Amino acid sequence: MARIRLEAVRHSYGEGDALRPADIEFEDGGAYALLGPSGCGKTTLLNIVSGLIRPSAGRVLFDDRDVTDLDTAARNIAQVFQFPVVYDTMTVAQNLAFPLRNRGLPAGQVRQRVGEVLEMLDLTAVANRRATRLSADDKQKVSLGRGLVRSDVAAILFDEPLTVIDPQAKWRLRAQLKLLHRQFGHTMVYVTHDQTEALTFADRVAVMRDGAILQIGSAQELFDAPRHTFVGYFIGSPGMNVLPVEAEGGALRIGQHAIAMTSGPTAPGARVELGVRPEHIRLGREGLPVQVRRVDDVGRRRIVHAALAGHELQVSLDEAAEIPAEPRVAFEPGRAGVFVDSWRVGA
Ligand code: ATP
Repeated sequence: MARIRLEAVRHSYGEGDALRPADIEFEDGGAYALLGPSGCGKTTLLNIVSGLIRPSAGRVLFDDRDVTDLDTAARNIAQVFQFPVVYDTMTVAQNLAFPLRNRGLPAGQVRQRVGEVLEMLDLTAVANRRATRLSADDKQKVSLGRGLVRSDVAAILFDEPLTVIDPQAKWRLRAQLKLLHRQFGHTMVYVTHDQTEALTFADRVAVMRDGAILQIGSAQELFDAPRHTFVGYFIGSPGMNVLPVEAEGGALRIGQHAIAMTSGPTAPGARVELGVRPEHIRLGREGLPVQVRRVDDVGRRRIVHAALAGHELQVSLDEAAEIPAEPRVAFEPGRAGVFVDSWRVGA
């Protein structure tokens, strides 16, 4: 296991930066996720850690050792990709044993470790079946197993590993991966565009967009204090409301309504927005008037789609809560944030 540090790392495939200059540290034994929409640079960042890509600039350090010029094998990294990588002619058990035999582990230890991994992944029943005869799900589980079987790796990197797994098995495997991390304490980095996957697996999540890391934090930090409007919007279901507001001498207005918050100093022409989560808005008889457009039932809660001074606002309501005839909204104290040019400045 290793502490992994990227220093001023940047990457370009030709035109523009696929990864903008970034510093990021993965602590020894930590579980991390890189989360963001397609094309934001997650795989590029992961491949820089693994050594599949040499960054255009910057350094990669494993426990203070500069590994920027070392390949994946020399970095001692295990990787699990989106699509299964298995040897079709070998049995499931042989596939799992392969990385261990390659490193010259004694046969007894290989047997024991393979047995453990088979069990963890529910593959014991198919241990002696040729990989070619497996379902797509089971093939991917074998791939996962090959990533997890060695205990001496510096880190295990996952690139959307559950994409081909059917939804039910996905839930189970996701929870299992979390357990495995607790049990073995490997440094793990997991790439996904799915916030549930990222937030269940990782202790810390890096949210990315357009080649930039916008924020790294725990699920709670990203939910409670997003530093950027995109983080607020991307995390949560539905995401944070982002409302354009006007700043007049530090006081904020939305349409004709004054808002009891201050923005701090803003440069002329700056875009000022108010960010507030649907869960942090009270709908009742107090506050700013809204028009209710639609109500969606989402199990134990209802999502009210309303208009506030012409801007769309989503409010999360308890299923039993009533919606008054002339509804108004109030933001829970301390829960809304002010964002200038998309970055949080205060509350
Ligand atoms: P996805 O979830 O779709 O894989 P991602 O967040 O992992 O996306 P990357 O694959 O890192 O993003 O891609 C970042 C940017 O770099 C994208 O604009 C992509 O088109 C570009 N890119 C990725 N690989 C290459 C390549 N080999 N050559 C040229 N451009 C590339």
